[in-house]
Amino acid sequence: MAAPQTQFEIKELFRVIREIQSILNQNFAISLENKKQNERMEHLRGSFDSKQEELKNLKETLINFSLNQKTLESLIEKESKQIEKLERDIYDLKNLTEVDTAKKKLNELIASKTEHEIKYFEDLSTWEIAQLEVPKLTKFVEGFQSSILELQEETNKLKIDNDTKTKQNLNLINTHLDLFPPVYIKLIQHLIQRHSFKISTPIYSNKCGSCNMQQSPQSVQIAEKMLDITKCSFCGLILMPDGSFT
Ligand SMILES: [Zn+2]
Repeated sequence: MAAPQTQFEIKELFRVIREIQSILNQNFAISLENKKQNERMEHLRGSFDSKQEELKNLKETLINFSLNQKTLESLIEKESKQIEKLERDIYDLKNLTEVDTAKKKLNELIASKTEHEIKYFEDLSTWEIAQLEVPKLTKFVEGFQSSILELQEETNKLKIDNDTKTKQNLNLINTHLDLFPPVYIKLIQHLIQRHSFKISTPIYSNKCGSCNMQQSPQSVQIAEKMLDITKCSFCGLILMPDGSFT
């Protein structure tokens, strides 16, 4: 892809490509930082949602508990009245069979009432324990909420800073690009568009440092000696000399 260049100019192009790549590396690091921050945010939101759901369910359970307790209370009261009445009525009964039936009914009522009372007190202690969880969970949810707000603020600020830095870097790249002959400007702009954060890669053991494909001896020689700008025939990145380039 030779445009007429002196060896000095070609070396200068390599230097600028390296410079552009290092700026793109910075932008890549910034994009990773943004991504990490967004993941933190998402994770915290997820935890917040599940805690809030837990709190909502607990409150609903407590409401249902109250309703059940009220039902039990009125049932116990009704049974107590029936028992009292039956106990009085038994004295007036003359017939033995009627007395037996009444006694049987009375025992059934007492057993049923006892069962309801046991259930009532058992539920009451469960209810009391559950109720203690509400303020704890509420505090937890509130803590989450303020953490989310803080992180959101931090994230917004970081994003603005990072966007500014990324934009500055892209402007800087354009300034560098002005040094290139038009044919190379087009190539580099195309590479940035295609790979976002990569225009070049060093050759390692005659292989492309990015896609790891074997390069032709000519390409390796051209890149290693910086004779011209040459691309990996597989991924299209500009091949740079191995490591030692300054
Ligand atoms: Zn490659």
